[in-house]
Amino acid sequence: MSDCIFCKIVNGDIPSTKVYENEYVYAFRDLEPVAPTHVLIIPKEHIQSLDYMNESNIELLGKLMLAAKEIARFEGLSENGYRVVNNNGLMGGQTVNHFHLHLVGGRSMQWPPG
Ligand code: 5GP
Ligand code: ZN
Repeated sequence: MSDCIFCKIVNGDIPSTKVYENEYVYAFRDLEPVAPTHVLIIPKEHIQSLDYMNESNIELLGKLMLAAKEIARFEGLSENGYRVVNNNGLMGGQTVNHFHLHLVGGRSMQWPPG
């Protein structure tokens, strides 16, 4: 998608601080972190949101979640815990329409979320 900022980040057209990459997944630090660790984990392929995923994306979804776990380990979050969030659509608070997981940690999280 030529007008998608996260596709531009994957392609290197917009700079980002990479923390992890494999064949299917790219992860980078959020520009406006809400916690000491705030990493965005995205598929390299443009998929708008969870709502646009189907059975053909099951393996990709697993790879995204396992990337979150691996990054949490690299970031030293595994012992004390962390949160993985997916904002989906307008009322879910999604502002960038390229699927992403937020990995946040390094402080205590609250529930319910805002
Ligand atoms: P959403 O609100 O869609 O769940 O999350 C989008 C996230 O992308 C926000 O946390 C926002 O700070 C982050 N973001 C938006 N534009 C950029 C950018 O150009 N670079 C980086 N690193 N993060 C971005
Ligand atoms: Zn995209």
